[in-house]
Amino acid sequence: MGRVKALRCRECGAEYPPAKIYACDECFGPLEVVYDYDEVRIAASELERRPKSLWRYFELLPVFDDRNVVDIGAGFTPLQEAKNLASALGLRKLYLKNDTLTPTGSFKDRPASVAVSKALELGFKAVGCASTGNLAAATAAHAAKAKLPCYVFVPKYIEYGKVLQAGIYGVKIIAVEGTYDDANRLAVQAAEALDIGIVNVNVRPYYVEGSKTLAFETAEQMGWETPDHVIAPVASGALLSSLLKGFLELKRIGLIDRIPKISGAQPSGCAPVAKAFKANSNRIVPVEKPNTIAKGLAIGDPADGAYAIRSARESGGAIEDVEEGEIVDCIKVLAKTEGIFAEPAGGVAIGVLKKLIEQGRVSRDDAVVCYITGSGLKTMEVASAGGINIHEVPAKLEEVVRLVG
Ligand SMILES: *Cc1c(COP(=O)(O)O)cnc(C)c1O
Ligand SMILES: [Zn+2]
Repeated sequence: MGRVKALRCRECGAEYPPAKIYACDECFGPLEVVYDYDEVRIAASELERRPKSLWRYFELLPVFDDRNVVDIGAGFTPLQEAKNLASALGLRKLYLKNDTLTPTGSFKDRPASVAVSKALELGFKAVGCASTGNLAAATAAHAAKAKLPCYVFVPKYIEYGKVLQAGIYGVKIIAVEGTYDDANRLAVQAAEALDIGIVNVNVRPYYVEGSKTLAFETAEQMGWETPDHVIAPVASGALLSSLLKGFLELKRIGLIDRIPKISGAQPSGCAPVAKAFKANSNRIVPVEKPNTIAKGLAIGDPADGAYAIRSARESGGAIEDVEEGEIVDCIKVLAKTEGIFAEPAGGVAIGVLKKLIEQGRVSRDDAVVCYITGSGLKTMEVASAGGINIHEVPAKLEEVVRLVG
């Protein structure tokens, strides 16, 4: 399985054996997994025979014993060429990585699959997460499969569909009065007091390894050609910084020869990372009270915000935000042109793509990949607020003929 070398501090570089730790003893910095890259040889031809889930890249995932793998099919989602949307936007080559098509309908199945597997391997007797909704369902589903008790901490005011979805898997839902940051603080305390493997807190170094598989799949599905530019929504910033890690690892083992520009997308009602990026700063000023319809992205004090900025800067990308009023329009454009119904995060990604084209940061000839990270079926209230046309008619053919015209 995984050719893990060590956990390395992302701040000071100190290395630790890959155990049940998540922060640096020296400087409290977050840890990340590093591999014996010289030992990893993945032949493109061999990959074709592997399972169609993110576990096909097991050498670069942090689980040692395959009996601990909790696989309910996360990963290997379609990369769809989006010709209609491309021509609407004036692009030649646009691809959508469709992570609405995962076991629980969001890209969070990736980090949850890896983190719950690792929590099992580390001997945790229960798991959990702090979540704005999608991670709750993803962790819950994987915990169910692993037969581990699960505790999810969510802010009280998230979309009901997401709470309900998590609840169906038989977990304990702790709906915290306050914001995501309040729920997260409580989850951190619980992780320490109760020895629960909170996937995005004390299992976080392993959790983010799941997110990077989006980069692996993108490259593989493009025939190991690197796209020019990739765009993903930003909440905690983990996905954006994991994309850079994923592409760098592929380059390191010789499967690709360059890194794409990596850009991030936030809703204007909660855009602390975009704001810092645009101010040319690395210091994130937390948003006390996020106010956005993209509740899945409403993290006011993002743990990996500074790393997300670094990923965008190092790769030549940008981090931008979209006006709240445009998000539903973008959801509809995506649905109408490509038949993909996304939650607001998808609208945010498309909105930022539009903005980057206007700014000249994405050019007409670029091969662009946009990550559509969650399904619109989870957030029906957002779509209904946008309004749809319903024609009430008596059950008579003339009425239909009149309507079709
Ligand atoms: C969690 C999430 C993201 C990105 O999350 P990060 O915390 O930045 O890794 C993007 N889109 C959706 C739908 C999400 O649920
Ligand atoms: Zn350190």
